[in-house]
Amino acid sequence: MAESVLTILNYIGGELVAPAGGRYLDNFEPAVGRPYSLVPDSDFGDVDRAVKAASAAFAGWSKTPAIDRSRIIQKLASLVQRDLELLARAESRDTGKPISLARTLDIPRTVSNLEFFASAVLSFHGEVLATEDRAQNIIEYSPLGVVGCISPWNLPLYLFTWKIAPALAAGNCVVAKPSEITPATAYLFSKLCIEAGLPNGVLNVVHGTGPKVGEAIVQHPLVKAISFTGSTSVGRKIAQQAAPMFKKVSLEMGGKNANIIFADADFEKAVATTLRSSFANQGQICLCGSRIFVERSIYSRFRDELVLRARELKIGDPLKDSTEQGSLVSRVHWEKVRKAISDARAAGGKVLCGGEVPSGFGDGYYLEPTLIEGLDHLCATNQEEIFGPVATLIPFDSEVEVIEMANSTRYGLSASVWTGDSERGQRVARALEAGIVWVNTWMLRDLRTPFGGVKESGVGREGGMHALQFFSEVKNICVGLK
Ligand code: NAD
Repeated sequence: MAESVLTILNYIGGELVAPAGGRYLDNFEPAVGRPYSLVPDSDFGDVDRAVKAASAAFAGWSKTPAIDRSRIIQKLASLVQRDLELLARAESRDTGKPISLARTLDIPRTVSNLEFFASAVLSFHGEVLATEDRAQNIIEYSPLGVVGCISPWNLPLYLFTWKIAPALAAGNCVVAKPSEITPATAYLFSKLCIEAGLPNGVLNVVHGTGPKVGEAIVQHPLVKAISFTGSTSVGRKIAQQAAPMFKKVSLEMGGKNANIIFADADFEKAVATTLRSSFANQGQICLCGSRIFVERSIYSRFRDELVLRARELKIGDPLKDSTEQGSLVSRVHWEKVRKAISDARAAGGKVLCGGEVPSGFGDGYYLEPTLIEGLDHLCATNQEEIFGPVATLIPFDSEVEVIEMANSTRYGLSASVWTGDSERGQRVARALEAGIVWVNTWMLRDLRTPFGGVKESGVGREGGMHALQFFSEVKNICVGLK
């Protein structure tokens, strides 16, 4: 039996409310290509109400003892854990990702984000520093006020809570905007905030498009800082719009990550992880390695094994436990990725596997896992972010050459290096222009560590105390002693 279409509501001032203009956008379930939810097409008026509600709540929340803020955030973590299956199913239907991934990555990580910042804030405090016997410097952190958090569609609740958890823990009030194509779990989370007893107005969630809702948050004079995760082009726009008001910005943006495999690497581990790092979440993770550089002496063996395994990935209904590859997130994105594959073909790339829409999936936005070789490292396929189940293979002959090729993009989010020589692993990692480099592993994320990109992949760092510092103002009060 077909499930009914979900009507998403905004969460403003502690209430679930319809957009004032009464307009909604159709949101599709990508695996079947049918409407899944109605998303508020909110506008400046809705954002303004949310900002005012947040502003009114700030005096109370910022003065709430950290231990009490921590307790409420911890309670939210427990409620998400309780509803894991419901949230995983909603995430899977909204994004097309395999439910196994939502169950093991997206929702557990949401719980960890909340638990981590509920705990970290208890150790986040200022210090007193003596200038010999002449003065005492009292260094204090205080929340900024109302902050804006804008998140993308690929890991919806995971990235939404990666921002709002530190913002709330540090004592700010938040106006958040989830992606308009994956709003379901943020809506369900709003209900959990009510159940957890989060005071009214402390978190507000306004749904809608980037140009209407996102820009209204960025430009609102009462919003002090913007934490954004999404594409480089939108990040650039946000930086430009925030600059005249000198707002603090944290921008986590696109990537074109290098995955470098030396001949002395653990072959089995490198090939198994490369399969995952190329195709997890249909390649729609900002940390996926979309450029696979393989040392020439093992190139053919590595390529053939990777192609074999990519062909075996089980494409299917995202809600089935056995599915390894679901659908892409939307028709627009599906068409963009297919165009990137046809451009790669036109540029002389050889499609080793995939490249086609698999049969038997009706109107869903499916695409086979695709590996391409034979392209220059400077061509558009190897320079522009595709953000789909598409990776290229490039042979290399020396360490110097591969570092040069890996660094030859405007992006610098992450990279991986596979080698049995630990000195070389660290040497190459240092030379790579990226915010995070994994040596002999991938996507291992200790929440205490900094996270962010260099070049056009990022401005600022999230994670651990970096996130709490971003959402705080620091002041030094210097008290003379003599
Ligand atoms: P996007 O930039 O299109 O949208 C991200 C968010 O910004 C959405 O909520 C969107 O509605 C909003 N937005 C769009 N236009 C806006 C505007 N003018 N002003 C304010 N907000 C606006 O990105 P996407 O397509 O949702 O996500 C995919 C991108 O996100 C990829 O480039 C991927 O690499 C990147 N990403 C980066 C990271 C990271 O940590 N660096 C993590 C996940 C995804």
